[in-house]
Amino acid sequence: MQKVYFKTFGCRTNQFDTQVMMSKLKDYELSFNELNSDYIVVNSCTVTNGADSSVRNYISSMKRKNPHAKVILAGCGSHSKGESLFENKKVFGVIGHSEKENINTVLKNEQPFYQIGDLEHIDSTIVEEFVGKSRAFIKIQEGCDFACSYCIIPQVRGAARSHKEETILEQITKLANNGFGEFILTGTNVGSYGQDHQTSMAKLLKKMSQIRGVRRIRIGSLEPIQIDDEFMELLTEPWMAKQLHIALQHTSDKMLEVMHRRNTYQTDLMLFNKIASKGYALGTDFIVGHPGEDEKEWEEAINRVKELPLTHVHAFSYSKRDNTVSATLKPEIRGNIAKERHRELTTIVKAKNYAFRREHTENLEVLLENGKDGIYHGFDQYFNKIEVQSSEELSANWVLLNNVEVSHEGNSAKI
Ligand code: SF4
Repeated sequence: MQKVYFKTFGCRTNQFDTQVMMSKLKDYELSFNELNSDYIVVNSCTVTNGADSSVRNYISSMKRKNPHAKVILAGCGSHSKGESLFENKKVFGVIGHSEKENINTVLKNEQPFYQIGDLEHIDSTIVEEFVGKSRAFIKIQEGCDFACSYCIIPQVRGAARSHKEETILEQITKLANNGFGEFILTGTNVGSYGQDHQTSMAKLLKKMSQIRGVRRIRIGSLEPIQIDDEFMELLTEPWMAKQLHIALQHTSDKMLEVMHRRNTYQTDLMLFNKIASKGYALGTDFIVGHPGEDEKEWEEAINRVKELPLTHVHAFSYSKRDNTVSATLKPEIRGNIAKERHRELTTIVKAKNYAFRREHTENLEVLLENGKDGIYHGFDQYFNKIEVQSSEELSANWVLLNNVEVSHEGNSAKI
């Protein structure tokens, strides 16, 4: 049997897509060694120019190290760089997102092929990824309708489209029957779930919560404008994880406009205060060093970060992506300035997280992952990590912790 190796670049969505391809491989053997494989499927990422270079370098290195293998380009990079790599004979074949479920047939092509497909397709396979034995990530939608200036994703993953509700619920029921208690909903723009099927995230959550065994639900990320009254009403439900990740990307109004975002700071602030008043921890994404972020904008932005009830941040330093609006904007921000702003931002949010944890040391509901040598890790309902020491076997168990120890490094407890 011929061997196929998968190399994945980029985000969790790409990792899921690789799993879809792996699950469809029938007439080939899955290989874990790229050097003795007959095919190397490169599930590529194209989010920045740097990501493109990493993919190109990997393909060149494989041509040197395993010249016998046929290299197939898949993933987001197929839609941005696939044509030129194919024309320049850097890869044997190119497949677009809609073709990945056909991987088993596609690989049978004896002639070089360029099968880019379309960007309207949604896979019939819903992929789950398991952490330990009781936490599962479920991809519920694909694509994005926003048009943020810095982002290439809508061009390479297409418009937002959702998986069917009944398929999602069926999948969750199966997993819950097998002992999974926590579900994390993910996708390219998760909060747009349901708009193409006349339903909503709130309706899906309510239905999920009625499935026996579903104990806690998290949503990977939401946009501020996706949070409606129907969703707000669910915040007091016991099965909602008490942390939301709401992507702001910036807190300066000028920068939000430059980034072509749909949120504004004053409404973000009101929203965050309202949700925090219900006892929630709040995380966000933030891009520092985007073109146009001069001293004045940064000062305004960082002062606003101080007033926001934030507990977690994914801070990204802006990195150029050709064929986006941002790539044409000036003035660019020097790397060392962006690095310093990144540090300033994460230091502030880290201090806020510490203060939050110090106030939340009781009634922490923690789902523990697999442990080793009596040490277990898990997350509480506020998405804070905790280390638990115990002589009991607690893998995949829920524990209720009181009086946990809080340090700058993290929370810990002994049972
Ligand atoms: S919301 Fe903006 S940043 Fe996120 S995928 Fe869509 S366009 Fe990109």
